Amino acid sequence: MPAKDAIVIGAGVGGLALAIRLRAAGFSVRIFEQAAYPGGKLCEKKQDGYRFDAGPSLFTMPELLDELFSLHGKDPRAYYTYTQLPEICRYFYEDGTRLSSYSDPERRAREWEEKLGIPPEQTRRHLQRAADIWQLTSDVFIFNRFGHAGSFTSKAFLKGLINIRKMHVFRTMHALNSRYLSDPRAVQLFNRYATYNGSNPYAAPATLHVIPHIEYNLGAYLPAGGMISITRALEKLALDTGVQILYEHPVERIVTENDTVLGIQSKGEGHAAGLVVSNADAAFTYGRLLGDTGSAGRILEQERSTSAIVFNWGIRSHFPELGLHNIFFSADYENEFRCLFDKYTLCDDPTVYLFISSKHEPEDAPPGCENWFVMVNAPADKGQDWPHLIAHARRAVLAKLQRILGRDIEALIATEDILDPTLIESRTSSVAGSLYGPAGNSRWAAFLRHPNYSKKYRHLYFTGGSVHPGGGIPMVLSSAKITAGLIQKRHA
Ligand SMILES: Cc1cc2nc3c(=O)[nH]c(=O)nc-3n(C[C@H](O)[C@H](O)[C@H](O)COP(=O)(O)OP(=O)(O)OC[C@H]3O[C@@H](n4cnc5c(N)ncnc54)[C@H](O)[C@@H]3O)c2cc1C
Repeated sequence: MPAKDAIVIGAGVGGLALAIRLRAAGFSVRIFEQAAYPGGKLCEKKQDGYRFDAGPSLFTMPELLDELFSLHGKDPRAYYTYTQLPEICRYFYEDGTRLSSYSDPERRAREWEEKLGIPPEQTRRHLQRAADIWQLTSDVFIFNRFGHAGSFTSKAFLKGLINIRKMHVFRTMHALNSRYLSDPRAVQLFNRYATYNGSNPYAAPATLHVIPHIEYNLGAYLPAGGMISITRALEKLALDTGVQILYEHPVERIVTENDTVLGIQSKGEGHAAGLVVSNADAAFTYGRLLGDTGSAGRILEQERSTSAIVFNWGIRSHFPELGLHNIFFSADYENEFRCLFDKYTLCDDPTVYLFISSKHEPEDAPPGCENWFVMVNAPADKGQDWPHLIAHARRAVLAKLQRILGRDIEALIATEDILDPTLIESRTSSVAGSLYGPAGNSRWAAFLRHPNYSKKYRHLYFTGGSVHPGGGIPMVLSSAKITAGLIQKRHA
């Protein structure tokens, strides 16, 4: 079997992006996907005239996606289009404060000054801090391989080391935000960015303050047709460039001999390949596909990132006070994270994230109606009583929305679909239903994250949210690039 023959396990964003990159490098690529559809977590749900993006809803760093098309000499705009959001998110607080985060820095600073009383210079400086972290960390922790000997002697790493103070490694996100922001509501707003990789702002290093840089300084976007357009564009590009995708082909086993990967087994049949890339969760890959519980156990020693409970509600009404992205903050944020990470449960007043794509894509809901994707962060699955927690979350969310919006939301629900950590795990193989693999709560998390290749099994590679550099669409796309680069070097 020629070494340039690759099998990819999973057609998530990571698997598709990796396959597209390997095709550009001249590999023949087959993707084995257990589901009947592409995208993994980035899929959609249609029900009773409503359409819901099922997973991610915020699109950042579109250039990482565009690069995949350019690699094949294709115009990305022929596959998908997107627009920058002038208003990124609306925030609602229990004390009655309502505010918007705008893309335009001047407008945003004015709004935050008016609503939160923080001087524009304070906002500007805090986002400059985020930009500084990006400048020092992105080449080390996001765009390149990490964890091998060379990464600790690279110019970028040494530059970071010299400027370690500016990376804010030794304080938590909450400590950083409360040190530099004069209003607790602004602190809460910036603390929220820890949840973008499923972490706890009261424990995670303030280096994660890099995330607001991506959203505010680089921009927030929405693809035309909703987030699912990303998956559709990737699938089409993969097929156009000769990637073979086998849907409803779960991989049961990775076949090895003397710790060298020879191929996979799907539907009881063996398929040989020069190399295998797993887009499935790394702990699942070792534990279930290789029967290597020791390696899986070592990954699972790291704390898992949060999961989610999502209520997709078709709403028989229109809410002009709501935008595309909305956050209804918990009154006691610290308690919310104690519940999630220390008690593995939900608090009585969880923060609610509400995404309404029909605000931009009217055909996602019937006329006069809205498609509500309502999400609360949930702990990773440890065998909790989920039907009980879902019922608890539903009551708390409805009470909160009614309290803040002043309307009986339950009476307006025309249709409902619920996603929970156990479904996330069974549909995508993400262990414990975690959305982003291991959490980023320790300052060592980036060092401990599984690399893009297996140190134990030759010709086994990884791409996706559970490995370096992390979860979320931009990180996953970066992961595909790093993995493809590594494969090209080793299998030239
Ligand atoms: C509710 C929710 C909200 C989110 N919000 C955001 C957001 O706003 N912004 C953001 O950037 N990210 C967000 N994320 C995270 C983001 O969706 C993920 O980080 C990203 O989609 C992961 O992509 P992936 O390719 O690594 O893995 P996945 O999407 O999990 O894909 C893995 C694929 O592998 C397949 N697979 C697994 N095991 C097998 C097997 N044995 N055989 C064959 N196929 C297999 C699965 O079916 C799946 O298709 C969210 C996720 C969820 C669920």
